Amino acid sequence: MPDTSADRAAAVESRLMEVRERIANACAKAGRAPDEVSLIAVTKTYPASDVRILSRFGVTDVGENRDQEAAPKADECRDLPLTWHFVGQLQTNKARSVVRYADVVHSVDRVRLARSLGARARAEERAVRCLVQVDLDPGAIEGAVGPRGGADPRDVEEIAAAIDAEDGLSVGGVMAVAPLGGDPGAAFARLNSIAVSLRARYHQASMVSAGMSGDLESAVENGATHLRIGTALLGDRGPIVG
Ligand SMILES: *Cc1c(COP(=O)(O)O)cnc(C)c1O
Repeated sequence: MPDTSADRAAAVESRLMEVRERIANACAKAGRAPDEVSLIAVTKTYPASDVRILSRFGVTDVGENRDQEAAPKADECRDLPLTWHFVGQLQTNKARSVVRYADVVHSVDRVRLARSLGARARAEERAVRCLVQVDLDPGAIEGAVGPRGGADPRDVEEIAAAIDAEDGLSVGGVMAVAPLGGDPGAAFARLNSIAVSLRARYHQASMVSAGMSGDLESAVENGATHLRIGTALLGDRGPIVG
């Protein structure tokens, strides 16, 4: 029997409380103030009704990774006081649609994408904060883009400069997905050091988007300012690729 909406709201509320407690505990352990770390609820594969529930319980930031799903969902939720984050790999031809609803794009990993986002943001009269997505997978082939996207760490400065050159865009910081397998701590520490050097040049580049349901403690310990949490809030998405 399907959940009633009251059941669903209660389940999401209790998961949200658990996640907030995990974040608070991780901050305490790392000696960080809880308000240094923001929660982005990743709502991919879940309906707009779940976004409404999260909003009702005080969530202000939501993330999506596919434009085809995100665009109609954001439209359905446009009455809610939400900041929308686009966190998925982004094709240049989706830039026009994404800038219409996304306040922050976490996945800028090439100069060409920065230029498209800039042109589209100006056309739509939107201001978009852009994070440079970094590929931290040490096993990746030299020069190749990893399966989860992201720029080679050596290209971060060039991509940030391309974002900064576009009216309508601002350099917001960096984002990464921990490499599969192994200890995410080393990867997150590396991301944080990239963030520190970027911030020396772009003072507004304060965001370090790192940490998901399985590794948020490690991300908090290593300087994350924004956690992207899906499963721990809304449940298993099942065998969906991407
Ligand atoms: C799905 C997704 C998340 C959330 O992952 P969970 O493990 O479900 O918390 C975070 N970041 C990106 C880029 C994602 O695609």
